[in-house]
Amino acid sequence: MEKNVCLIKKNDKVKVMTGKDRGKIGRVLSVDRKKNRLLVEHVNIVKRHTRPSAKNRQGGIVEGEAAIHWSNVMLMCNKCMAPVRIKMRHLEDGKKVRMCRKCEELIDL
Ligand SMILES: [Zn+2]
Repeated sequence: MEKNVCLIKKNDKVKVMTGKDRGKIGRVLSVDRKKNRLLVEHVNIVKRHTRPSAKNRQGGIVEGEAAIHWSNVMLMCNKCMAPVRIKMRHLEDGKKVRMCRKCEELIDL
């Protein structure tokens, strides 16, 4: 089922569609393909308590992004300037690329 496959990749620009960060646009920092979760820059910031370590002798609270499920975000199309649904397309040379469903702009090129 195509809709259960994560088509988002690292460095994509995505818009958050649900949750407390709804409406935010950020760059994808990393993708966890097994869990279908993404880290998006400046999105879903959580505070973590850390123990003292060699790096941070005092320990304390650090802020950082927490992963969100990919279905909570949509890819931004540079042509539509909007969050869009994407689909896969096979090129003649066998390469698979992503395409905007709205304007049919190829996204990976
Ligand atoms: Zn588009």
